Amino acid sequence: MSIAKLKSHLAAAARLFRVPADNPDLMRAQFDAFSKQIPLLYAILLTNTFAVSYTHLAVAPIWLSVVVPALLCAVGIARLFWWQRKRHRVHSDAEILHSLRVTNWTTLPIAAGFAAWSFALYPYGDSFAQGQIAFFMAVTVIGCIFCMMHLRSVALIVTIVVDVPYVLYFFATGEPTLKAIAVNNLLVTGAMVTVLFIYSRDFADLVASRKSLMAQQAATQALSDANFRLANLDSLTELPNRRRFFAELADAFGDAQRNGSRLAVGIIDLDGFKPINDNYGHSIGDRVLIEVGRRIREACEGFATHRVAFARLGGDEFGLVVCGDPADQDLLALGQRIADRIRLPYQLDTAHNGLSCSIGFALYPRSATSAEALYECADYSLYHAKRHVRGQTVIFSSEHEAEIRSRGVIENLLRTSDFGAEMDLAFQPIVDATSERTTGFEVLARWHSPRLGMVSPADFIPAAERIGLIRQLTQALLIRALAAARAWPDDIRLSFNLSAHDICSPDGILPLISIIERSGVAPRRLDFEITETAVAFDFRRAEESIATLKAMGCGISLDDFGTGYSSLSHVHRLPLDKIKVDRSFVADVNANPVSHKIIKSLTGLCADMEIACVVEGVETHDQLDSLRRLGCDYIQGYYFAKPMPVAAVSDYLARERRRFGGEMSATAAAGA
Ligand code: C2E
Ligand code: CA
Ligand code: CA
Repeated sequence: MSIAKLKSHLAAAARLFRVPADNPDLMRAQFDAFSKQIPLLYAILLTNTFAVSYTHLAVAPIWLSVVVPALLCAVGIARLFWWQRKRHRVHSDAEILHSLRVTNWTTLPIAAGFAAWSFALYPYGDSFAQGQIAFFMAVTVIGCIFCMMHLRSVALIVTIVVDVPYVLYFFATGEPTLKAIAVNNLLVTGAMVTVLFIYSRDFADLVASRKSLMAQQAATQALSDANFRLANLDSLTELPNRRRFFAELADAFGDAQRNGSRLAVGIIDLDGFKPINDNYGHSIGDRVLIEVGRRIREACEGFATHRVAFARLGGDEFGLVVCGDPADQDLLALGQRIADRIRLPYQLDTAHNGLSCSIGFALYPRSATSAEALYECADYSLYHAKRHVRGQTVIFSSEHEAEIRSRGVIENLLRTSDFGAEMDLAFQPIVDATSERTTGFEVLARWHSPRLGMVSPADFIPAAERIGLIRQLTQALLIRALAAARAWPDDIRLSFNLSAHDICSPDGILPLISIIERSGVAPRRLDFEITETAVAFDFRRAEESIATLKAMGCGISLDDFGTGYSSLSHVHRLPLDKIKVDRSFVADVNANPVSHKIIKSLTGLCADMEIACVVEGVETHDQLDSLRRLGCDYIQGYYFAKPMPVAAVSDYLARERRRFGGEMSATAAAGA
């Protein structure tokens, strides 16, 4: 064998007696397992020592039978306490390594001490006592190896330090029984050491696989945490999302039911967000939503009296769950806090004001018995706020409940109504502002319900939209309106209202086109009125429908201008012929400078774009005068005529013709 080979074998052999420092996890596991066995190890060692010492009291000198074992046991007990102290402290890798190394090297003198003591005692006893020593040494080493299984180097040191001298010593006695015991011991120790090697390898594998299992579990946990976050968080605002909101609501509702406490659901909808999106673009819109989310979070988290969960439900809608027995005034206070923050300016390209929010709340147990119903009620109070008190907070009340009930009644009766018998048409003149001549009629639907009496179209048209009957209704009304218009003079136009559902689906517009074609009325005599809300429903589809109607020769009017999103981009992007200014601006045109200004700028805009401006709801001569001065082209309103039944139209037109005919002959006479 070469020197180098010998050297490497020796190094490998030396490694067996050292504590391996390259695997901290294994070291830690060894430390834990080993420290647990220490008390057992010393219990075996000390009891066996005591037994040997006791049998040699009478025969051996006192220093050997008592003093030396007492000293050895004192060292053992000291080690035992040292280990007990170490075991219960949290350790760094370095500390653990140090402890194991100390153990490694203190084992050697301790084992050697006990072995030397045994050999020293041997000559004093009779054959029985000598047999006891041989047995004591062999059995104690086996017991110790078992207890030290987890720290191979220590077990090997004990084996070598005790068993090598043991075998040599008892062989040297020449006594056949003792030689046989030495051989037995050698074989058993050999087997033990083999098991020791196998076990320590398996232990290392076990530790490694436990580590990889833990790493795997940690990775799985991290992945599921990330999934949970993604599934429950709105990616734009980083607020909890709709899914999280409903989970939170279900939990809170269960708690409120158990504790008999109140619980509120709130829905926030931004007012004035659409124009920001349209005018500044989506990325600015997104930034505004993030900022709004931040402000809502701030308002809710700082709301000291109650715990408020918040979420983004989608678009510009946010949700609240208010726990902890809130009363009405708490909800109003929270609504105010949120609205105050949302109204603060936003730093876009320039500071932007004008964003506000409407909030609808509903309270358990007053308004609903299930979480879903509570949400529906909050949704209704939001709808109510948007329609009647924009920018304010509304709490669902018994009046709202009555409204919903009547909505339900209207829907049910509408489902079974006979359009032919119960629906009727009213016609309202649209008059040229300068000449005061009727240029056309807007047709307005009327429903005489046998059960409810007259129902306003403001109630039954939205109901027909909700229950999916609007397209059938529109077709029935258009057929009858065209039949009426066919009897009128050629220069009298017909204005017909379309709903979102009519213009935002292909099944809505195509039947209308064939109805027009079959009617015998020239498409150029028709105007279709659409609202901004209807256009916003699905802008691309609406644009297509409008283009189709325009291509036939029909005119398009933008209805209720000023009440919807008032986004001027609609005016720019659609091929409009007329804009109808909502009557809310007309009512106070002479009293309110703001309304006056708005109409003035609208007529200016219409003139620039060569679009005619129609003003609805004109009731007095003063209003008419102002509007005429402001440059409005057409007027509609009770001042000229209320909506009239079809039979009254021909009389109305004849009267007008007579009036103008009279005026004309009077002018002619004056001229002659
Ligand atoms: P709109 O299209 O804005 O119709 C004008 C409404 O103002 C009509 O109410 C009309 O009667 C009323 N009005 C006209 N002049 C005056 C006035 O001087 N003062 C006041 N205070 N009111 C005036 P109406 O008939 O109750 O219709 C309400 C709404 O129902 C309509 O608003 C329209 O949006 C919808 N609607 C009516 N008929 C139809 C229809 O056939 N189809 C569709 N899709 N919607 C319809
Ligand atoms: Ca209209
Ligand atoms: Ca209108």
